[in-house]
Amino acid sequence: MADVRDLRIVIIGAGMGGLGTALAFAKKGFKKIDVFETASNLGFVGAGIQMPPNVVRVLDRLGCWKEIYAEATNVQGTSIRQGSTDVELSHVRMPDIEEKYGYPHCTGHRSSLANGLFEGCKKESAITFHFSTALARVNSFAGKPTITLKPRNGDEYTVEADIVLAADGIKSATRTQMLAELGTQSEEEDTGQAAYRIMLDRAQMEHDPEMLALIESDTVVRWVGERRHIIAYPVSNKQIYNLSSAQPDTNFAAATNATYTTKGSKAAMLDVYGDFCPLVHRMLNLVPDGEVCEWKLRVHKPLPTWVHGSVALLGDACHPTLPHLSQGAAMAIEDGAVLAEVVSKIPADKMHDPETVSRTLKVYELLRKPHCSALVDMAAHSGRILHLGEGKAKEERDREFRQNGKTGSVPDKWASPDVQKMIYSNDCVQEAIDNYDRLFASL
Ligand SMILES: Cc1cc2nc3c(=O)[nH]c(=O)nc-3n(C[C@H](O)[C@H](O)[C@H](O)COP(=O)(O)OP(=O)(O)OC[C@H]3O[C@@H](n4cnc5c(N)ncnc54)[C@H](O)[C@@H]3O)c2cc1C
Repeated sequence: MADVRDLRIVIIGAGMGGLGTALAFAKKGFKKIDVFETASNLGFVGAGIQMPPNVVRVLDRLGCWKEIYAEATNVQGTSIRQGSTDVELSHVRMPDIEEKYGYPHCTGHRSSLANGLFEGCKKESAITFHFSTALARVNSFAGKPTITLKPRNGDEYTVEADIVLAADGIKSATRTQMLAELGTQSEEEDTGQAAYRIMLDRAQMEHDPEMLALIESDTVVRWVGERRHIIAYPVSNKQIYNLSSAQPDTNFAAATNATYTTKGSKAAMLDVYGDFCPLVHRMLNLVPDGEVCEWKLRVHKPLPTWVHGSVALLGDACHPTLPHLSQGAAMAIEDGAVLAEVVSKIPADKMHDPETVSRTLKVYELLRKPHCSALVDMAAHSGRILHLGEGKAKEERDREFRQNGKTGSVPDKWASPDVQKMIYSNDCVQEAIDNYDRLFASL
């Protein structure tokens, strides 16, 4: 008997989006899921990640949250400080996030999140990973799409799928090709910002009472200055303190590699944060010479569509974002969960009808694009506010900061109760269940 779960699902990329998508389809009962990934393994950079309740809800449904949570920090508040003085501009308490939204707001190691998803995938016999295998091109988008793959040490081969889901990141080749087919161009945007990613061991920090207090806390700290900030929090059972910055990317090496990361200069990093307080300096000084990692922060002009035929984009491939709202990976994982939900709703007798498949993918786009676009815009807006220089606008911002969120709004949007309510209460899967029929009929 025909069963929609027999559709062959091909996923490009095993980043957070690809892993989440594979697991979501397997949990819905799909039996043939292939994931193709250029890299030879997961290979995640040493960096932390915030996991807000909206994505924790999805991870819990996927059955992999318990293991990730075991190493995570359950965030109880945020301290926003003047970078130059360490004086607190605002302290927003968040003790009731779990009570309000059903799940906590946590920070963790990227590898903890990736491995949690990967371990979940490995338990599913339906999922096959093909590492060291890059998508070379999409040969056809409509009907049963075919793609050509290039193994690192082998010859190209072609695969036919029922649905191709491209989670191939900010440099998505699928996006470029899709937009070209649709007569438009892929236009990445340089945000003019770069980020240092730093991880300090507990052993490096525990001799210093101020640093020890930071790594022992359940608090996300943001030090802000003109055109720059540093955000920091403990991860890995408080054995590692993660710092991530944003600054003008003037020091970024001109020739970037494929992932937009490069080894930065420690002297340049110390110089960029030269007027920040001694506590920040002591931490930056702990980074070994030659181990300063700098990322270029890039986004993309809004896309006209995320779907063409039986191919859909997800995650950074279609809505790359500045990190200031801490929602990039969360959105990518949510995309996968929504895709699995809507595709599973295709009636069995229509599963090989190209129009039904394409319209269903369009339902995913209708469900996700307005929401993700709003969050991408808000992240950019939050960055502009955080990076204000001296003047009236900054005075007004700092006055609002001093309300500590009691008015319901905080200039640092990730910590703002009104924004949290909008994002954290959004149950993307339930939204898909509730709206699929109506949206499908509207197309
Ligand atoms: C400084 C910084 C801090 C951040 N902090 C947070 C945070 O706190 N919380 C949060 O939710 N998000 C955060 N993000 C955002 C988050 O990291 C990204 O949005 C997320 O990782 C995107 O996942 P993805 O799977 O879409 O893309 P990626 O992680 O880029 O994965 C794409 C994958 O596709 C593979 N690939 C690419 N091309 C091909 C090909 N042709 N064939 C096969 N495979 C291919 C790549 O090798 C890669 O593995 C942050 C980002 C930055 C830069």
